[in-house]
Amino acid sequence: MESAYVVKDGVAVVSFDNPPVNSLSAAQRKKLHEQILHAAARKDIHAIVVTGGAGPFCGGAEIREFNTPAQKLSPTMPELIEGLDRINKLLIAAIGGFAYGAGLEFAMAMHYRVSSAYAQFGLPEVKFGFLPGAGGTQRLPRLVPMEHAAPMMLSGAPVGAQQALDYGLVDALSNGDLLEDTLTYARKLIATRMTPRRTSALPVRLATAPAELFATLRADINKRTPGHKGKLYIVDCFEAATTLPFEAGREFERARFLELLATPESKALRYNFFAERQAAKIAGLAPDVRARELHQAAVIGAGTMGAGIAMCFMNAGIPVALIDAQSEGLERGMATIRAVYDAQVDKGRLTQAARERTLQLVTPTLDLAAGVCDADVIVEAVFERLDLKQQIFRELDRHARKGAILATNTSMLDIDEIAAVTQREADVIGMHFFSPAHVMRLLEVVRCAKTSDEVLVTVMQLARRLQKTAVLSRVCDGFIGNRMLQRYLQQALFLLDEGCSIEQIDGAMEKFGMAMGPFAVGDLSGLDIGWSIRKRRYVERPEMVYSRIADRICEAGRLGQKTGKGWYRYEPGSRKRLPDPDVNQILHAYRAEVGVAQRNVSDEEIVDRLMLALANEGAQILDETVAQRASDIDVVYATGYGFPITKGGPMHYANTLGLAEVLTRIRNYQQGYQGSQWQPSPLLVKLAGQGASFE
Ligand code: NAD
Repeated sequence: MESAYVVKDGVAVVSFDNPPVNSLSAAQRKKLHEQILHAAARKDIHAIVVTGGAGPFCGGAEIREFNTPAQKLSPTMPELIEGLDRINKLLIAAIGGFAYGAGLEFAMAMHYRVSSAYAQFGLPEVKFGFLPGAGGTQRLPRLVPMEHAAPMMLSGAPVGAQQALDYGLVDALSNGDLLEDTLTYARKLIATRMTPRRTSALPVRLATAPAELFATLRADINKRTPGHKGKLYIVDCFEAATTLPFEAGREFERARFLELLATPESKALRYNFFAERQAAKIAGLAPDVRARELHQAAVIGAGTMGAGIAMCFMNAGIPVALIDAQSEGLERGMATIRAVYDAQVDKGRLTQAARERTLQLVTPTLDLAAGVCDADVIVEAVFERLDLKQQIFRELDRHARKGAILATNTSMLDIDEIAAVTQREADVIGMHFFSPAHVMRLLEVVRCAKTSDEVLVTVMQLARRLQKTAVLSRVCDGFIGNRMLQRYLQQALFLLDEGCSIEQIDGAMEKFGMAMGPFAVGDLSGLDIGWSIRKRRYVERPEMVYSRIADRICEAGRLGQKTGKGWYRYEPGSRKRLPDPDVNQILHAYRAEVGVAQRNVSDEEIVDRLMLALANEGAQILDETVAQRASDIDVVYATGYGFPITKGGPMHYANTLGLAEVLTRIRNYQQGYQGSQWQPSPLLVKLAGQGASFE
């Protein structure tokens, strides 16, 4: 064991050794614990420095071990961290890179902290639905004034080294060799006969009267994130730090930490975290596939999507040509772009100089050949018409340089049919952005039959540069997200036929946690989009039955917010949905026409039918290998469709119900109105029979 740490001038240097982020796994905890105890027992050692070297200090607990036996292996996190309080040697953390979560809790339990000038400090637990459970809520306000400690822990956002120094979280910054500077710092402490300064023995730092501060914090949480248990418990723990002795405060914190950890919300948030990381991985690629270099982009079509996509490239510092066939279209697109950056300047999020620099990255042009000839990646975003897109791709085939990636932003069209008009099908791919493209995180990357692995890898990497969460899909009608959405909307319309009100359905789904109910979303994005999709489906997919009520609404000229009325009505300039008696009349007339028996439907049934419609189609998508994995489908819904991340996603939701139960319910719905539209996916039937889940 002795050789596992080095000793310099009476200072032992213990190193983290668990790449890539030095997480505190069970094995890592054991090793650190043993080395620290061993060094502490030696008479010739006066101080112990713990470091992760120039890289990260520690990324925190090993989240994969949560709720597993490894989490309980000795030394547990509290045993390791509280154990530091019993060490009678000077303990100094040398923090490079970052100290997050339990990594920061560990550092806070040491007696002094030296940090590289670039290090980051954060307690992100709240983002996973729990709180720092290894003394963090009790130690942070003993080092950092409560007024700063509270927002830091409640937001989960990291702070930089200088801020950490100003707050009192670290004692010294190193601008050079972190370890050398920390050893110098340690030798000074030894020379001046400094004794251990235990954070647990320090008083809580409070400037404001605590009662007032905590009341304000609670009111703010209840206003912005009503009933957010994790955040409210953090405030309770801070309060406990001010009223209870340290040990009792620790116990108070631990009980709340364990309670939160077991909640379904926290489990779903952790599931999402890993699901997003997993989504970036493409199964079955040859190890030697290399991404192409991308320096220059072009976007064709300067409409709603094209302008947004151009901004994605600009924000990533990639020069982009924005091309449109109409000068009005191009001007409108450029005006949109300028308006977005102007608003950011007005809000103080962008400097005037940065705005100028960013705007210089876009070159508007009406000349397609000139716009695309130097581009390494070209994204087409013209009207949703196959013949038009094919015409554009023929031109791209002529004018784009060899090796350029030819992408389409189509929502629904068959990209193989678009690729087929070119002589370079291996370079064609789908990049399905979501509106507004410069804001929404999701990017469906659609792999065509002949897309090369190299192009696939390049686009997945590009997605990261564009700060998108990419999910891989194969070509099918609507890809992952919109294909599932069709089943969801189909059920929403059937529910209207059966007697639900628009407000009841939207209300039930929003209470469940969806960002917006299906009818409110329709009004926002425009009802004509769905109308044209349905018209196409009536011909191409006669087996898919729709209630015609949505067509009646469109036929009445109600196309959503843009026409001031859709499923709801809107006052000029307002987005507030108002119930409209005219819609009720259309509903009554349609119900009479189709003669459906009206009944009272519960909110539970609404949520159940819409969720199971998603999960069942998701299962079908998995079975057809359109999606790589169930968790990818959940990422699509969590990042692109306003699905509540505290519920994971439709597939995770189905798993929590149990697939046997899901199947029973679907079979039950087969007996009801339009029951023939419920066909349990064979994969669901198989997994339910095996007692398995989508995971
Ligand atoms: P839009 O009508 O706002 O813009 C289309 C633009 O393409 C117009 O400016 C038009 O002048 C231009 N254009 C038409 N023909 C052209 C040509 N031959 N050469 C160059 N420019 C041409 O449409 P949009 O909403 O931005 O949609 C564009 C594409 O993105 C469609 O395929 C659509 O299905 C898809 N999409 C839309 C959304 C959405 O929410 N709007 C979301 C994802 C994908």
